[in-house]
Amino acid sequence: MKNSQHLLGLIERIGNLLRLEERELGKADGLQPVHVQVLEYLSLCNRFSNTPLSLSRYLGISKGTVSQSVIVLENKGLIKKVQDNNDRRIVHLVLSETGKNVVKNAFANERWSNTCERLPAQQRERMAEDLAQLLLELTRQHSMQSFGVCRTCKYFTYENSNYSCALLQIPLKASETAKLCHEHCFFDSKTGSDESLSVP
Ligand code: SF4
Repeated sequence: MKNSQHLLGLIERIGNLLRLEERELGKADGLQPVHVQVLEYLSLCNRFSNTPLSLSRYLGISKGTVSQSVIVLENKGLIKKVQDNNDRRIVHLVLSETGKNVVKNAFANERWSNTCERLPAQQRERMAEDLAQLLLELTRQHSMQSFGVCRTCKYFTYENSNYSCALLQIPLKASETAKLCHEHCFFDSKTGSDESLSVP
């Protein structure tokens, strides 16, 4: 119990510091922290996960807040809406070149990355594995989507030097395998079991 409270305190403190960083990062471009979070998510997610609905689920914010943020970012020329080729009802949110530059400049100065870079690579990997396990447990508890990358997903396949997704039945480029995905489903490396999270 004591350990879990200590862990919670550490994670909350890190979260607070990151929120502070987001406030600072957006200031130069007149952006609120939520706008920075939207830009950050869009720079990290794959082409199936850049919809307003995925954004709302990933950030845990209402669809109304997402709509307002999209309007602000679109008016500033940082993102654009692109209709899905197969389903005209679906809109994808894509970073414009200016948006990409804002993300690039903002995160080049980010204290978080600089601090992480100073930790030994092995320690970073260990921490990432432990935090991924914690996230897996929490997403199960909340019956939420995990939003992970391909290499930790049970649908990911790698054969004859080719990557593919068994769920979407499509080949994947190497660069796509490192992107956040709303269809992601953790493979639990510690127990060897996997679990499908309910994706409405
Ligand atoms: S393998 Fe998993 S994470 Fe990768 S695209 Fe498919 S569903 Fe998404």
